[in-house]
Amino acid sequence: MEEKRTSVPKLFGSHVFNDDVMQERLPKDVYRSLRKTIDEGKDLDLTVANAVASAMKDWAVELGATHYTHWFQPLNGITAEKHDSFISPTSDGRVIMQFSGKELIRGEPDASSFPSGGLRATFEARGYTAWDPTSYAFVKGGSLYIPTAFCSYSGEVLDKKTPLLRSMEDLSQAAVRILRLFGDTATRRVVTTVGPEQEYFLVDKTLYDKRPDLIFCGRTLVGAKAPKGQELEDHYFGSIKPRVAAFMKELDEELWKLGILAKTKHNEVAPAQHELAPIFATTNIATDHNQLTMETMKNIAARHGLVCLLHEKPFAGVNGSGKHNNWSLSTDTGKNLLDPGKSPAENAQFLLFLAAVIKGVDEYQDLLRISVASAGNDHRLGANEAPPAIISMFLGDELTAVLDAIQAGKTYGGAEAATLETGVHVLPDLTKDTTDRNRTSPFAFTGNKFEFRSLGSALSIACPNIMLNTIVAEELRQFAQVLDGSKDVKADAIALVKKTVDEHKRIIFNGDGYSEDWVVEAERRGLLNLKTTVDALPHYMDDKNVKLFTEHKIYTYAEMEARYETILEEYAKTLNIEALTMSEMVRRDVIPAVSGYVGKMAKSVKTQQAVVSGLKCTAQTALIGKLSGLLDTAYEQVAALDDLEAGSKEVTGALAQATYFKEKIIPAMADLRATVDAMELDVDAKAWPYPSYGDLMFRV
Ligand code: ADP
Ligand code: MG
Repeated sequence: MEEKRTSVPKLFGSHVFNDDVMQERLPKDVYRSLRKTIDEGKDLDLTVANAVASAMKDWAVELGATHYTHWFQPLNGITAEKHDSFISPTSDGRVIMQFSGKELIRGEPDASSFPSGGLRATFEARGYTAWDPTSYAFVKGGSLYIPTAFCSYSGEVLDKKTPLLRSMEDLSQAAVRILRLFGDTATRRVVTTVGPEQEYFLVDKTLYDKRPDLIFCGRTLVGAKAPKGQELEDHYFGSIKPRVAAFMKELDEELWKLGILAKTKHNEVAPAQHELAPIFATTNIATDHNQLTMETMKNIAARHGLVCLLHEKPFAGVNGSGKHNNWSLSTDTGKNLLDPGKSPAENAQFLLFLAAVIKGVDEYQDLLRISVASAGNDHRLGANEAPPAIISMFLGDELTAVLDAIQAGKTYGGAEAATLETGVHVLPDLTKDTTDRNRTSPFAFTGNKFEFRSLGSALSIACPNIMLNTIVAEELRQFAQVLDGSKDVKADAIALVKKTVDEHKRIIFNGDGYSEDWVVEAERRGLLNLKTTVDALPHYMDDKNVKLFTEHKIYTYAEMEARYETILEEYAKTLNIEALTMSEMVRRDVIPAVSGYVGKMAKSVKTQQAVVSGLKCTAQTALIGKLSGLLDTAYEQVAALDDLEAGSKEVTGALAQATYFKEKIIPAMADLRATVDAMELDVDAKAWPYPSYGDLMFRV
C-alpha cells in the first residue's frame, strides 16, 4: 500500500489565520485596516473587528472549531485558556455559530486565581484579556485560539506578553534613532528576532506513572546512578530510535500546521534527551510559538505512550535541559543589524550596536541572571553542563581583535578566511566560521546574533527577552544622546565604541567558562556570581533596575514588586512540593519496601540455620546490618525534613521563605537522597518500589 503523503508547504500554517487567509477572506478595506493595526499599531474600530471576527469564525468552523479562547501568558510562565462556544440561540430554539468583534478584542476572565505577587492588595478579581493582532490566531483541538495580553481591572499588567511587546517597541524606537544618525531614512521599525533551541527528555509513560516524583515535581528526587550515563557520548547526534522518530515526525507536523518553523531535531548529550530548534521569528511570535511547542511536545508524547519532561534537571548525574535564546535585531527592510559584514572594522554602525550589547550585558548582569532564575535551573548553572551563573560575553577571535585594534588606536589588519582542507578530492574544503563557537559562554556572539545560553528548558522566553530588549534600548538611547548633532557620526561612533570597550572590557571572556580559574578571575574582575535564585532575586529591586524599567515604561514599581514576589513564591512552592513528595515516597514506599526486604532476608537466614546449624550466612547478615542501619538513618532524616517543612510555615516574607527553603530544605533533601540511593543499590531490584534510572533512561 502506498503511504499517504501530505505536502509540507500545504500543511504549513494550515491551521493559522495568517496573512494569506486574511487576504483571501477579508473584504479589501477590512484587510487594509487590519494590516495597519498589525504593522503600525493603529487602533481598530469595531466595524472592522466585527468583519474580522466573522471571517475568523467561518474559517475556524471549517477546520472543525466549535469554541474560541483568549489565550494568554500569566506570570506562572505557562499559558492559560478558557473556552467559549460560538453557539448563540435563535428565537425558534435552534443555535447558530456567532462571534463578534467585541468577543474577539476583549475578554474578561476571572483573574483572582493567577499569580499576581504584590498586586493582590490593589486589584479586583476581574481581569481583561486584549487581542494581540501581531500574533496570528490559530485552530487547535476544536478551538479558535486568539493570542491576547492580560491585565487587571485597574490596569496592572499580569502577563508576560504585554511587557515583551512594550520592550520590543522601546527597542525599535531607540534603534531607529541610531539608524537615522547614520543616514538611514528607509527603516521604519526594528524588530528583535529569536530562535529558541528547546531541549527535552522522553520517558516511557508506564514507568513514569510509577514515580510520584516525576508526576508531582517533573524530576526524580531519588534514584541511584545507572551503570551507564552519558560518558560514552554515544547519544549526542546518535541515530534516532524508531519510537522517538515517530514522536518527532508527528510533532513536526503538528507544529507546521500551527505555522511553527520546526527545523532541526537531534538526540542530545544525555540518554533519552533530545532537542528541537525552529527557524527564528519576531520575538513576540517566537515566544508564543515556544509556549505552543512545549505544550505540543507533551501532548504528542502522550499519543506515543511517552512523557515529555521539560524540567531543567530530571535526573541527577547526567545533563539537564536548557534552552538557547538566539537573539538579533533586524530592520523592517530585512537588514540584520548584528551582521558584521565583510569588514567589521569599518562597520561603525555594527560596532555601535555591538557596543550597546556589551555595555548592557555588563551593567545589567544581574537582570540577565534573574531572567533565567528558577528552582529547576539552579541545578544546572555552574554545574559544568550549562554556563556558569557568572554572566560574561564571548565575542570570538575576529571581533575581539577588531575591538583590541580600536582600543589601541590601530587599524585592524583583517582576518584570513580560514579554510579546512579535507584532503579528499570529492569533499569540498570548508570555510571556517570565525566565531569558533565557545560552548561554555552564557552569552556568545555566533556570527550575526547573540546566543543567550543560560535559559532553563521549562522557562518562558518572554522574561529574558524583555530584559535584553530593554537594556539594549537603554544603551542605544544613551548613545543617541551622545551622537545627536554629531558632524562626523562614523568617527564619533568609533570613539564611543572605544570608550565603551575601555569601560566594559571585563564582561568579555573568550576562555573556558566551566573552569575553576574563571570563577576566581571573574571575581577579580568584579563580575557577579549569583549562584542561586535566592542570591539573584534581591538585585531585581535595585535602584538602577527600577529606574530602567520605570523610565522605559516596561513595568511600574508595583508591577516589578509583583514579579519579584511571584518568582520567589514560585521557588518556595516548588521546593515545598518537592519536600512533601520526597517525604511521602520515603515513608510510604521506600521504608516499607526496604524493611520488607530485610525482614524476608532475616527469615531466610533463620530458616537456613534451622536446616544447617552453625551456618554463618555472612552475606545476608552483613546486608541486614547495613540496610537496617540505613533505614534508621533514613527514618531520622525524613523526620528532620518533615520538621523543617513544617517550620517553613513560620517564616514570613517571600525572600525569607525562599531563603529558608534554599538553606534548610535543599540540604535536608540531599542528605535523605544519599541514604535512599545507597539503599537502592543493595536491595533486590524486584523489591525496589520505583523504576530505576537505567529503566527510565534506556528503555524508550
Ligand atoms: P547552533 O547554535 O546549534 O549551532 P544555529 O546557529 O544554526 O545552530 O542556529 C540556532 C538558532 O539560531 C536557530 O533557531 C536559528 O533560526 C537561529 N537564528 C539564526 N539567525 C538568527 C537571527 N538573525 N536572529 C535570531 N535567531 C537566529
Ligand atoms: Mg545553540
